[in-house]
Amino acid sequence: MTGMKKSDLVLVYHREPYEETMVKGKRVLKENASPNGIVPVLKSFLGAADKGCWLAWKQVTPKEKKSFEREITIDDAYGNYSVVRMPLTAKQVKSFYHVTSKEALWPILHSFPWLFNYDAVDWPVFREVNRLFAEAACEQVADDGLIWIHDYNLWLVPTFIRQKKPNVKIAFFHHTPFPSADVFNVLPWRDEIIDSLLECDVVGFHIPRYAENFAGVARALRGVELGPRVDVEPPLVSSGMALSEPTVTPWLQTGKRRVIIDTCPIGTNPRVITEHLSTYEAGERVAEIKREVDGRQLIMSVGRVDYVKGTKEMLEAFDRLLERRPELRGKVKLLLICVAPAAGMTVYKTAQREIERLVGGINGRYGNLGWSPIMLTTRPMKFDELVSHYRAAEICWITPLRDGLNLVAKEYVAAHKDGTGVLVLSEFAGVAVELPHAVTTNPYSGTSMDEAIDTAIDMPAAERKRRMSASLEVVTSADIDAWSKHVTSLFEGLRSYSKTADNDIEAA
Ligand code: UDP
Repeated sequence: MTGMKKSDLVLVYHREPYEETMVKGKRVLKENASPNGIVPVLKSFLGAADKGCWLAWKQVTPKEKKSFEREITIDDAYGNYSVVRMPLTAKQVKSFYHVTSKEALWPILHSFPWLFNYDAVDWPVFREVNRLFAEAACEQVADDGLIWIHDYNLWLVPTFIRQKKPNVKIAFFHHTPFPSADVFNVLPWRDEIIDSLLECDVVGFHIPRYAENFAGVARALRGVELGPRVDVEPPLVSSGMALSEPTVTPWLQTGKRRVIIDTCPIGTNPRVITEHLSTYEAGERVAEIKREVDGRQLIMSVGRVDYVKGTKEMLEAFDRLLERRPELRGKVKLLLICVAPAAGMTVYKTAQREIERLVGGINGRYGNLGWSPIMLTTRPMKFDELVSHYRAAEICWITPLRDGLNLVAKEYVAAHKDGTGVLVLSEFAGVAVELPHAVTTNPYSGTSMDEAIDTAIDMPAAERKRRMSASLEVVTSADIDAWSKHVTSLFEGLRSYSKTADNDIEAA
């Protein structure tokens, strides 16, 4: 690296920014399939930097490692940047990602402490992988550059960065919820994790509740001073919902630095969705889907196979619906897109079996030759195809027990500029504090779930339109561009703050 220009922005994200396939022994990089979501917007940040670097991990065999190309250069629609892949062994991936991240940290982040699996965790491996990430980031970053880290599986990276690069700026964004102290403190490594986050200049979250939970944990465990709370601004609903917070702590002060606590829910890209739906092909496809369901009310539910998504509770509610209201039999159809996870995680395999069992039971109980109540697919759907289904579906049923934000809910709304459609939304999805005009429900309560689906099915067109227009206003203004602008100005603030601080030191 000596002599090479260093990066002013290093983005650390566990996934690579493209899909890699081998064609006749040659590597082919394809643009990431989804034009929506976070990957394109992160690429645009790198493209806009003087020199940007994306740091991800890649599993390699010992044989592959010998000739492994660690750094590749990308020149795509977003600009020119490099991608550095941290080679990890299968053993490291299993321990760091599948076990520690998914079986120990994930249940705590989502407030499922009874699923916390301590015994399988090899914390030194987690720490070592985080240290490797930090080392790779430090090799790439300019001394006054910014390292932007994404998500909890990299929680310890800030500590190791600070040991080498005391003056770089570090921003850390959580795509997940952050639990209350009562749940977070189940983690035996809680002090080490919090100390690492307190090495950052910015710690970011989707919504104020998660930010407040973090501030509370940091104060309780480390006695940091919290800045005076400020009012939560509309359109976020600041009271009355399960995840509402009236005020939020904007910063905290440690013995070493001021840490900005940032909140901004990520947005979707309504323009991409509208553009797709305005094509002739999409119009044809939507009509075809409607024909396929034969005039029945199409209810749709989309998510990964994961206990946090509440699929079991939703299927139980659907079962009760068909039992309670026999007149609906043959008149509704539930399309359940439940994307199967990567192999190797027992807890998800169990969740998938449970879903398949419930679906089989419901189809067996109520179905006949001409109608099966549920169509389940565990294969991911291409984004365009998904959007056509959103438009065709009269109801979108998104009721996670806990979810960092939930982009599907925003995408469904964005696909209903025509004012049709009803969104049934869990109060425990972060996005609920942005979308109070959805039919909100508490997935822990069977009664609440029953009432919500009844309300959605029976809702008159005028009310559907009124609620959808209100939700659309939020989804189109709090879109991905708004999020991107927010982050850009936050980072500009950090840079000018560090310049002022340097000048102050020189003047002294
Ligand atoms: N998605 C997709 N095809 C599918 C199912 C989901 O492209 O078959 C996309 C969906 O459009 C959304 C993302 O996957 O952008 C899921 O994000 P979300 O925030 O809803 O859930 P997460 O999986 O991040 O918990």
